[in-house]
Amino acid sequence: MKWSLTLIPTVKEVPADAEVPSHRLMIRAGLMRKLASGTYTYLPLGWRCLRKIIRIVREEMDAAGALDILMPSVQPLELWQQTGRDVDYGETLGRFRDRHGRWNVLSPTAEEVVTHLAAGEISSYKQLPVNLYQISFKFRDEFRPRFGVLRSREFIMKDAYSFDATPESLDRSYRLMYDAYCRIFRRCGLDYVIVEAESGEMGGSGSHQFTVPCDTGEDIIVHTEDNTYAANLEKAAVDPLPKQTAADPIPPMQEVHTPAVGSIEAVCEFLHTQPHEMIKTLIYVTSENTLAVLVRGDHDVNPEKLTQATGGQHVELADEETIKKVSGAAVGFAGPMSLVEKGVHLIIDHAVAALPVGVTGANQTDYHIKNVVPGRDFPLDGDNVLVTDVRNAVEGDTYNGKPLHFKHGIEVGQVFKLGVKYSTKLHATFLDEQGREHPCLMGCYGIGINRIMASAIELANDPDGIIWPISIAPYEVLITAVNLDDPQVAQTAENLYQQLKNRGLEVLFDDRPLRAGVKFKDADLIGIPLRLTVGKKALAEGNVELKLRRESDRRAVPVDQAPDRVRELVDQLYAELNP
Ligand code: ATP
Ligand code: MG
Repeated sequence: MKWSLTLIPTVKEVPADAEVPSHRLMIRAGLMRKLASGTYTYLPLGWRCLRKIIRIVREEMDAAGALDILMPSVQPLELWQQTGRDVDYGETLGRFRDRHGRWNVLSPTAEEVVTHLAAGEISSYKQLPVNLYQISFKFRDEFRPRFGVLRSREFIMKDAYSFDATPESLDRSYRLMYDAYCRIFRRCGLDYVIVEAESGEMGGSGSHQFTVPCDTGEDIIVHTEDNTYAANLEKAAVDPLPKQTAADPIPPMQEVHTPAVGSIEAVCEFLHTQPHEMIKTLIYVTSENTLAVLVRGDHDVNPEKLTQATGGQHVELADEETIKKVSGAAVGFAGPMSLVEKGVHLIIDHAVAALPVGVTGANQTDYHIKNVVPGRDFPLDGDNVLVTDVRNAVEGDTYNGKPLHFKHGIEVGQVFKLGVKYSTKLHATFLDEQGREHPCLMGCYGIGINRIMASAIELANDPDGIIWPISIAPYEVLITAVNLDDPQVAQTAENLYQQLKNRGLEVLFDDRPLRAGVKFKDADLIGIPLRLTVGKKALAEGNVELKLRRESDRRAVPVDQAPDRVRELVDQLYAELNP
């Protein structure tokens, strides 16, 4: 492609809302333009990159035996109501009513639709296993779209769904996807880690997340030094803390007036105490119960662990009215005393149970209570009391005795064993050899195509621009011709362009009548892995100049050897990414 014939609107200005390098560079290099919050138009360079990622994903999915299909983006809300996920997805689920008054959703994922399909098409064990996938637009009305395409509202996702007859077969299907993911991310040039993950509102029994470690990532990877354990923050387990005993006997509970101090910090300052000596009492509700969840003042409740603790129920923070009813006080003054008697379930974090004594809300507006002893002043066992791990891991925690470390990462893909959650609710069953009916065992497997592109940029860029891995670069080679008004330069560049194309290479030819400096700046910005420069000076000696974007070295190559040399280098770059 000749630069003069395509649309690569590079710009110097960085958009004000671009907080991370990939967002800044995707705008500056003319890969995309924003339409509205979290929606982008992909321009020729950006779309080429996405198409190359899609091709790699498709090749590996096909090789793993998955079947490429395409499902509708507009789905009946009714299907989502049948699985209860209209509630679980909440406002993230985009909905609209059609002219006949029927409610629809804009697909954020497709478990419901594919299971509905399987219910109609699968009847016998002989049709299993089967894995169906699609690559399509997804819509999620994210609370806070940001970081460009890393968290957008509309994005391209590859989603696959496997159906199996036995747990062993599901294990095999899961493994096939897991291995395919390893190859896909490697081929896309990403350094990734695989961490254990929670299956969240997906339901199911096991999950792994593929994460690209980088400082700008929103996910937190928790791991031991030796990496024998790695999980995301939602999942990361912690060892219970040892029970601390008080040096002196603890006097009885004492109510203290704490007028208008709501936050933990304010209470601590007022009472000259520390957050780790505070017991936070948070009121949650499920469809069946009211829960009081106790964590230390310096800890945060982990919603995934809380869901696990309730046996997988949908858990929500209680509204103000419920909190007042349960605690008898304004928000911020709840405490665990006498709640069990009122039918409230106590879920107590290990670290709270390990405290010798603490401070908590008094269940009375503007009052706290000191000298609260877990086990003495509120129960640690008995009916409706559970002591468990219900908080996020923090610095200083251990797992299996090993200290935990934290780093940021970008989730690019996730695989789940779903089990029968969807197949039961949507009646996707099969008959076994004896003619008995069973729900299909399902797995689901997602990859964010746009996130792969942005992660690759996050991983490899410098102050001048993007440094693409060859496999997903919009073009493999850039020919930069300087002094194009020189007929010999123009002719040589044109010849090389044709020869490289004839060798099957993807070539961008910068044929614009611009100053060399401008062209080199643009070349670095758009980050094509290999640059061939045709200029008057080198050409006088029969040479052109070859440069890898990731290196500073330039090599002079005789013009007639250049096409072969480029082909070799490109092949070498691909070989580096071959798993
Ligand atoms: P996150 O936790 O980041 O919101 P998720 O766990 O909800 O993502 P999945 O439902 O597992 O995402 O979707 C599969 C893949 O789709 C993710 O691994 C990610 O790569 C991609 N993805 C999800 N949400 C977005 C988004 N808002 N913008 C871009 N890509 C996304
Ligand atoms: Mg996920």
